[in-house]
Amino acid sequence: MGIFGEENKPAASEGAVTLTKADLQTLLEAAVRAAKAPNALEQRELERQLEQDRRRSLAQVEFEKAEELAARRRSHGCTHRRHPLGSRYAGMSAPKGEGEWCTGRQIVGRIGEQIATLICMRCSYVWQFKPTNAEREYIESNGLLGFAPPPEETLVAQGVNL
Ligand SMILES: [Zn+2]
Repeated sequence: MGIFGEENKPAASEGAVTLTKADLQTLLEAAVRAAKAPNALEQRELERQLEQDRRRSLAQVEFEKAEELAARRRSHGCTHRRHPLGSRYAGMSAPKGEGEWCTGRQIVGRIGEQIATLICMRCSYVWQFKPTNAEREYIESNGLLGFAPPPEETLVAQGVNL
């Protein structure tokens, strides 16, 4: 059995231990209880991991919030315009109403409809809208650069991280 670690020792030499049946019963019950009890170390490790996972997902949420906020701030402060090539501040951010739109555009086909996407090349703000047939033809043959953001009523969606 080995529970008592006694089997290899000569029973008589160190004094034999006499157990009553009741003592033996108590010892066996204690041994069985100990074997069934959750391992304290494992339990602690499990709790530690759960706590770590919880913190990690909290950190992830915080990170995503901060990222979204930064993107919003970036696009909020962006006029989506730049000083034109050849001018003194070529390519740099231009105030509202000055310079040219620093936007690019493309047509994205969807089932049953076509959606055009205009994006600010500085802050990545995106406008998605339904182009008219004329707009679509124009975009398809003339490319993408420098379009003004579309009027609200044609917008399908707008924002950062679309
Ligand atoms: Zn912008």
